[in-house]
Amino acid sequence: MPFLFPSFTDFMLPSGHWDIHLLSDIFPASVVPHFFSIRCPHPDDVADNCCWRWDRQFSKLMTNVERTRRGISDSLCCDLCDGLFESVLHVLRDCPPARVIWDTIVQPSVRMRFFSLDVSEWLMENISSVSTSNPYKLAWNLLFSSCSWQIWKIRNDRVFANINHDPSIVLSRCLSWATNYANLYHPHYSAVNAVSGLGTIGGVLRDSAGSWISGFCRNIGFSDALTAELWAIHDGLELAWNNGFFTLQVRSDCSMVISLITNPNTTSSSHTLVRTIANLCRRAWSLEYTWVPRETNRPADFLAKHVPPDDFSFLMFEQPPCFITDLLSRDVHGSSYCKVRSS
Ligand SMILES: [Zn+2]
Repeated sequence: MPFLFPSFTDFMLPSGHWDIHLLSDIFPASVVPHFFSIRCPHPDDVADNCCWRWDRQFSKLMTNVERTRRGISDSLCCDLCDGLFESVLHVLRDCPPARVIWDTIVQPSVRMRFFSLDVSEWLMENISSVSTSNPYKLAWNLLFSSCSWQIWKIRNDRVFANINHDPSIVLSRCLSWATNYANLYHPHYSAVNAVSGLGTIGGVLRDSAGSWISGFCRNIGFSDALTAELWAIHDGLELAWNNGFFTLQVRSDCSMVISLITNPNTTSSSHTLVRTIANLCRRAWSLEYTWVPRETNRPADFLAKHVPPDDFSFLMFEQPPCFITDLLSRDVHGSSYCKVRSS
């Protein structure tokens, strides 16, 4: 037995990555891939902290009604609505900042019912609905959940930080998250296999003329689509920095990732990789993030889809692999893409 009381660092290489061979000696083969999408601990990491989570059975959102019930507040009322109790339903549905969001996305035909249910019915009915009869063609339970979460966050920003958010920006954030959740279940749009849950990433470094500098890909083990996109950005930044490229335009076809890592609050993000990328961005270089359509990002996608399933090393390509040379040439010469929708 190599370690009696091992720490995380015992399973890491001096480079700061997991020691795959040591992990494979100790853990079953089916367990090892679970490590790879988790970023290794880093000396710059801050300590863990507590956060609240919603649990319908055992806890309540800490509204003023709930805080008063627990004896930690003497006001039951909403700070915006004179005399109205700040219950869960009030915050999430009836308070003006919430109402603005729901009035925009709830269809007129169901609006009366939506605003008349009690809290249990309201939550259960909405999180059970997979209808896409809304202007955004998203499953209603995803849209509803995203909006409820953002509405609770803007309430906390207002109460605890005196920050008021523009409703149109809040709504676009809700739609981004709902779209991201929806994409998690579309294997076609993700480098994460919907059946196995195993993810791969790929990326390409090119100069301003579009010529090849370097490419990379690797397995990241069990993951989700958002984490896979973040790993691709992270590894691409590391590769660029290590090769001395300090003026960089980062192109991604994932608007959610760009939104997350360009947010002013990245250093306090709940996602470890977002915080890690934020730290990378603080290095002395010039970075610009640009969203590009998926069709124009196909070389990176192709690299991700060609990772050998049993190889967990970081694969680098000094020359473009033969299966993407046509795609690169097409990008350089500016041939257009025609997107065909199935419906
Ligand atoms: Zn209110």
